[in-house]
Amino acid sequence: MELTKELLAEWISRFSEKIQNNKGYLSDLDAAIGDGDHGNNMARGMQAVTESLEKNETADTTQSLKLIAMSLISKVGGASGPLYGTAFLEMAKASNDTKDLGELLQEALSGIKKRGGAQPNDKTMVDVWNKVVSKADDSSLTNADIEAAVESTKDMVAKKGRASYLGERSVGHLDPGAVSSGYLFEALLEAEE
Ligand code: ADP
Ligand code: MG
Ligand code: MG
Repeated sequence: MELTKELLAEWISRFSEKIQNNKGYLSDLDAAIGDGDHGNNMARGMQAVTESLEKNETADTTQSLKLIAMSLISKVGGASGPLYGTAFLEMAKASNDTKDLGELLQEALSGIKKRGGAQPNDKTMVDVWNKVVSKADDSSLTNADIEAAVESTKDMVAKKGRASYLGERSVGHLDPGAVSSGYLFEALLEAEE
């Protein structure tokens, strides 16, 4: 599937809505194994993203991806901002050569891993991205896949980010960044319809 400017706008708009609607839930998840700000961080960031895209209506796909990245990096604060920001920045860079969504998401995932140093099973957003991106590639991704990827973080011991300070005590809780990433991919599936 090709990432057109229209698909990107619809994707981001739906993601932003999910973040705003689940702001309290995301922060509650973060309160259990982190510092309780993930929902507020993401809501602030997506508000900035929305304003930036509104202000730059004529931006093409690459420019839009860059605007999204910059808003997330500058406004989210917390570990998740630079990571989501890097994901969209890597997509922006790669979009000069290809608009293929699967390839762009692969670049985004590589960027997140490089930036944060997390591997699969470290109980981070990488666990969702890693499982989902390979399926997004051949358009076989379903909501059930996304939910399973998010749920898989519950039994993991956190190895990266604030939750890693808890060690074994992080087990039994969903990773907040995995949940917000789940919203990102659910939003993508909805936008593709
Ligand atoms: P902070 O922990 O700085 O308060 P947030 O609460 O906004 O930032 O984001 C926390 C989320 O960021 C975690 O749930 C996890 O998914 C993600 N995260 C943290 N560190 C890393 C990392 N090194 N690699 C990938 N994801 C990470
Ligand atoms: Mg936090
Ligand atoms: Mg914080």
